[in-house]
Amino acid sequence: MSTTAQGAEQELSTDVVVVGAGLAGLWAALSAAQAGVNVMLLTAGSMQAGSSYWAQGGIAAALDDEDSPELHAADTLAAGRLACRRSAVEVLCQEIPESVGQLERLGVRFDRHPDGRLALAREGGHRGRRVAHAGGSATGQELVEALSSHVAGHPRIHVLEHTMVQSLWVHDGRCVGVAARLKRDDCLRVKARATIVATGGAAALWQRTTNPRGATGTGWLLAYAAGAALADLEFVQFHPTALVGQDGSDGFLLTEALRGEGALLLGRGGERFVDELAPRDEVALAIAGELRDHPHAAVVLDLRDVPLQGFPNIAAALAHEGLDPRHDPVPVAPAAHYAMGGIVTDLHARTSVPGLYAVGECACTGLHGANRLASNSLAECLVFGRRAGMAAVCEPAAPASSAAPIRAPWPTLTDATRERLWRHAGVQRDADGLGRLLNDPYPLARLIAASALARCETRGAHQRRDYPDTSPALDFRHFVVAQDSPLRIEAWD
Ligand SMILES: Cc1cc2nc3c(=O)[nH]c(=O)nc-3n(C[C@H](O)[C@H](O)[C@H](O)COP(=O)(O)OP(=O)(O)OC[C@H]3O[C@@H](n4cnc5c(N)ncnc54)[C@H](O)[C@@H]3O)c2cc1C
Repeated sequence: MSTTAQGAEQELSTDVVVVGAGLAGLWAALSAAQAGVNVMLLTAGSMQAGSSYWAQGGIAAALDDEDSPELHAADTLAAGRLACRRSAVEVLCQEIPESVGQLERLGVRFDRHPDGRLALAREGGHRGRRVAHAGGSATGQELVEALSSHVAGHPRIHVLEHTMVQSLWVHDGRCVGVAARLKRDDCLRVKARATIVATGGAAALWQRTTNPRGATGTGWLLAYAAGAALADLEFVQFHPTALVGQDGSDGFLLTEALRGEGALLLGRGGERFVDELAPRDEVALAIAGELRDHPHAAVVLDLRDVPLQGFPNIAAALAHEGLDPRHDPVPVAPAAHYAMGGIVTDLHARTSVPGLYAVGECACTGLHGANRLASNSLAECLVFGRRAGMAAVCEPAAPASSAAPIRAPWPTLTDATRERLWRHAGVQRDADGLGRLLNDPYPLARLIAASALARCETRGAHQRRDYPDTSPALDFRHFVVAQDSPLRIEAWD
């Protein structure tokens, strides 16, 4: 431990350092530790702070006798609008059934029918029942609680909560660990042979969001500053049915599984206006259209025929809002929900910086294309989290002496930026609005705007008013940004 003008500094070392304790970070940490190395897991808040804890619907996996990984892959590719990386889709759909089995062996209790079969839900874009869930609509809580206790009890994993990583430690072009801010201005450096960033998504950069406040793309900032490439930042999914309510509950997610059980979307005159089980981009756009044509804040989700005993946390949230879904119309509107883009990785979660891995929602394998298929993201955390953990243990040891990382200033996200992203890079965008974001003080707002501006077409979640058609020339093309190089367009194997 040493003391500088900026506060006390401490340096620790381990084999693998994981940043973030959502499903991706927990699973990557367990996978690396099970492979025999020491792991440090650093996380900004408590173990429940990420989106994983709040996931409702479940994990998409071909587990039904009439389903197959090939059919799961076909639905993923169709939802992704000719922008998915096929190899990533194949890996996910082939490997996820085994991950669900591993979770069960670790004690996760998926919901089952009385005869013992898994109770699989149907969600938008899936051709049949394919989503394994736990505790009704409390899947994320069940997963995070079960895995956190395994991580906390693992002899080779050391967890540090309330530890905000603010830079990656790069030496001679290789990532050799992280620097984190602790309470006051104390700094912790962790040196490691491999660093796995699992910091979650960025949808809370938008004013109206289903995500916890911390989902602001911090991993993107870290990786970009370290020289890693980011891609597909223009593809942000807007969930069609987020509650319109008071401050605390506004944006609360009403899972797609409700529509799978018969919930209807109704316009102001009480009429249906969209196929409730179409992929998310279609449903969100249809709602945005309704709201534009009839300027009121919400459409109605009609839950009168849905048995809510299977969705206890939703029933509780609606009751808290003073709504009785057996009689009351439930007001909903789209909210920013999921970032398809992120830190570019290969199929083993390796980024363009040696020693640096990214996994979960902060990463971009190209799996989701322009529109994530519902419940494929928890699946991604598991499949690619395991791959990251297994690959990380093979990295060579970090050099013994390396200059301390630079403590760069951390940018401040303001409500004004969040409002501007919502207004100019929302469900629909155009060059005029996106151009205004290019001068935003927050660096990620500028990168998102530059990517969205460059993609002169409409595809999936990226709906350009000024370019309403899809350009076949951009099928399977990814827009990549990196420090000190102009935006480039890539095709990935
Ligand atoms: C309401 C809701 C419902 C959803 N339902 C589903 C569903 O049913 N099925 C599905 O597949 N997907 C669902 N999703 C999406 C899915 O939950 C997420 O994509 C997934 O959980 C992301 O997991 P993750 O591990 O990548 O990130 P997270 O779970 O968000 O975890 C990120 C972690 O990183 C930490 N962190 C962030 N920055 C730093 C930093 N700088 N230093 C240290 N720590 C940091 C955070 O504190 C947190 O612990 C849902 C999302 C939401 C918001």
